[in-house]
Amino acid sequence: MINVTRSFMPPIEEYEEYIKEIWSSRYLTNEGPLLQRLQNDLKEYLGLDYINMVTNGTIALQLALRALDIEEGEIITTPFTFVATTTSIIWEKFKPIFVDIDKDTLCIDVNKIEEAITKKTKAIMAVHVFGYPCDVDKVQEIANKYGLKVIYDGAHAFGSKYKGKSLLSYGDISTCSFHATKLYHTIEGGACISNNKEVYKKIESLKNFGSTEGKYENIGINAKMSEFNAAMGLSNLKYINNIIEERKKISQLYDKLLKGKVKRPKFLEEVEYNYIYYPIILKDEVGTIEIIRKLNANDINPRRYFYPSLNKLNYIENKIDCPISEDISKRILCLPLYNGLTKEDIFKISEIIIERVRENRNV
Ligand SMILES: *Cc1c(COP(=O)(O)O)cnc(C)c1O
Repeated sequence: MINVTRSFMPPIEEYEEYIKEIWSSRYLTNEGPLLQRLQNDLKEYLGLDYINMVTNGTIALQLALRALDIEEGEIITTPFTFVATTTSIIWEKFKPIFVDIDKDTLCIDVNKIEEAITKKTKAIMAVHVFGYPCDVDKVQEIANKYGLKVIYDGAHAFGSKYKGKSLLSYGDISTCSFHATKLYHTIEGGACISNNKEVYKKIESLKNFGSTEGKYENIGINAKMSEFNAAMGLSNLKYINNIIEERKKISQLYDKLLKGKVKRPKFLEEVEYNYIYYPIILKDEVGTIEIIRKLNANDINPRRYFYPSLNKLNYIENKIDCPISEDISKRILCLPLYNGLTKEDIFKISEIIIERVRENRNV
């Protein structure tokens, strides 16, 4: 069985070394020594001033919405993402306002943001979907003009750089997910990243029951990452360059085999890409479903990432059309991409796709 992704596992002995440290310290959670070490190592690896590790990427988005001193109102966001981006907005009692995506980068179309801004708009929550950068300069320019906050859901952005800086360093807050299926993981986990010390302090308090130096000054929640998760993060971080390098080779082989046969998203210039996903865009939904069926028959499971376009969810009250997102989400697939995927597998997957594409002129 070949799935769209497979969790990276570090050598078990290296994980065990950290676990032994936990056994002797008896420090299991609550900002323990391994978590501190991980935060420092990540700051160094990503070139950041501050990072708050939390329990997952969804709570990171919710904390971001809480930490910026904005209250009720509208949040401009993208419909082409994982459902957690939208639900975190609704969970925090804001109203998501969908703006369609750019057909090449698949990120929010910055030329359509301004027309969606009203008196109730509080923030822009954009997503660096598949690790492709949003037009962060333009988003910031609009935010400055209208006095809006900027939050990036950077769940896919770990390891991607834009203009020489980690993609996670943009916006008022960027969040990340370290879920087991992501490029870099802590089993379950996430982070809030901000260049602003006040925001960092606020999130530190919010994730720990609202406690600040022993006083309960904010209404908080429990989003602390345990030492066991931090141990996995430390074990995996050692391999991050190999992880990205191997995925790059796999992606380049797909590129070579599928060249001219399928459409691919394009990203902005000045990007160092992390190779987290390998999306292909096909001609239509019928052909896409046929390719999935054929791959499934060969024990290969690509994913319809992201389907459906989130503006189409039943619980969304304000129905806003996003034709580009709706169209692309019907005919996009993420191909298997993970460390350990063999050349034979890549050839087999590509062959099945090319055969179908030829039959259906499915480009
Ligand atoms: C995975 C993901 C999340 C949620 O992260 P969890 O750690 O699973 O809670 C949020 N946004 C996007 C775009 C994601 O892919």
